[in-house]
Amino acid sequence: MIASDDADVIVVGGGIAGLGLACALARYDVRVLLLEKRKASGGIHRGDSLLPRSTGLFARWGVLDAIRGAQAQEISRLEIHHRRMGKLCELPLVQPRAQHPYLVLPHAKIEQVLLGQALAFGRTTLVRPAKAVDLLRDDTGRVTGVRYETPRGTLESRARLVVACDGGRSIVRARLGIDVAARFYDHAYLGLEADRPASYENAMRVHFHEKGGVLLMPRPTRVGIGMLVEAGSGERWIRMSDDELRAKVCERAPILRDVAIHREGAHVYELARAHAPRYVQDGAVIIGDAAHCTNPTAGQGMTMALGSAGALADLVGPALERGEARLSRVL
Ligand SMILES: Cc1cc2nc3c(=O)[nH]c(=O)nc-3n(C[C@H](O)[C@H](O)[C@H](O)COP(=O)(O)OP(=O)(O)OC[C@H]3O[C@@H](n4cnc5c(N)ncnc54)[C@H](O)[C@@H]3O)c2cc1C
Repeated sequence: MIASDDADVIVVGGGIAGLGLACALARYDVRVLLLEKRKASGGIHRGDSLLPRSTGLFARWGVLDAIRGAQAQEISRLEIHHRRMGKLCELPLVQPRAQHPYLVLPHAKIEQVLLGQALAFGRTTLVRPAKAVDLLRDDTGRVTGVRYETPRGTLESRARLVVACDGGRSIVRARLGIDVAARFYDHAYLGLEADRPASYENAMRVHFHEKGGVLLMPRPTRVGIGMLVEAGSGERWIRMSDDELRAKVCERAPILRDVAIHREGAHVYELARAHAPRYVQDGAVIIGDAAHCTNPTAGQGMTMALGSAGALADLVGPALERGEARLSRVL
């Protein structure tokens, strides 16, 4: 067992919730140790939409310009299409006089930008790959740190606050003894990409279909595809021939008929909703999908994760900055 440096806050998980928290805490004089089990960002579909509520937080944390600079696309409407009836309607995604934009950026890019910003602010240390496996506690049972596995061996770090941002299958949440009953949906989400059709305008675009709708979202040079498929059918979709996959996607979203469909990184996600009965236990906190997750078609997961990160930082940041030994007064 190797001992490693302490921090004020240990954040377990470098997804949107963890990175958002690191950026939000950067406004306070607080040392953050960020543990992430993946070697690098990317390789997962976790949504590209940054709603005005999220971009408002980014503006407050000083990271919005970097997100824009990474070629985020600004969009303002959602189009609903039907394969026989054509465009059914258009809906605004941004309220009139909204202060902040609706931006779309590939999820991996959002993570890269937030990580770059968190590190640039100078108070966050990243350890990756680092997989949290257990919690450290004091004599009273209060959580004081994290044990985690790295290629260098098993490390332990201590901090005044541990925050679980390790997603829907949170190990930290399990170690805190917070039981969450996940309720699975009857559909799953197939993530793919296609070249951008000439007639595609910068908008979120939903194609209704009785077998499962298709969501198209703008990416810098392509369009992202999210298609609802039957729960448990993942293997079938991943093994399907290119021709069959193409025919099924284009049947549902005819706008893709003349463009190439790309399968690299394709994955089928089984979908569940879950809500933890409490967010604080033994002095540790859970946020993001570790605390609550919902159907991605609502486009709310990142908004909730970032909202929780901002609220938590504002709650504990001042107390941590003042050097309060225990946070029980605010948590
Ligand atoms: C297919 C799909 C599409 C989605 N589309 C949208 C969308 O369009 N808009 C939207 O708002 N939301 C969407 N969501 C939901 C959204 O992605 C999540 O709500 C959001 O990413 C939650 O962020 P998080 O950081 O809590 O969890 P995650 O993004 O899951 O991140 C958790 C992180 O913790 C790391 N980790 C896990 N265990 C450990 C461990 N033991 N030790 C260290 N690190 C660990 C993981 O590697 C990961 O980086 C989608 C989700 C899915 C699955």
